[in-house]
Amino acid sequence: MKPEIVLAFEFVEFIPDKLNEHTLYISTTYGTAVHKCFCGCGREVVTPLSPTAWQMTFDGVSVSLHPSVGSWSLPCQSHYIISKNRVVWAPQWTKEQIARGQAHEAQARERYFETVRDERSDVAARSTPSADKPKQSFWGRIKRWFLGDST
Ligand SMILES: [Zn+2]
Repeated sequence: MKPEIVLAFEFVEFIPDKLNEHTLYISTTYGTAVHKCFCGCGREVVTPLSPTAWQMTFDGVSVSLHPSVGSWSLPCQSHYIISKNRVVWAPQWTKEQIARGQAHEAQARERYFETVRDERSDVAARSTPSADKPKQSFWGRIKRWFLGDST
């Protein structure tokens, strides 16, 4: 049985060189969270925060991280979920599961960047007609003022 861990968290600008055990360091400036692996192996685990990586939730009291943290590159192969300041141990993944998970992540990233591209071209397409409107009303106002003044 793995020990139940209640973790502390710290919002920092820079991730400190020396990390305390059972502490999640969150840098909103650099969009990343770092902690020492909760299994106690002492390795540093970096979880970048982004729409395609991890999302951190702070409810005012506790922090959660989504999705789960799987340290497949570490010897301990730890896998856990951080939910409301608690470390919830998850089953280790097999090699196939890891490969599938990585493929899924790559796909998610691809989809995300496609959406961002679509939204951008959408904005560009829409901005032309709407940008004309204030100009028209501006000239309309000048014309009205001019006509009104001259009669
Ligand atoms: Zn570990």
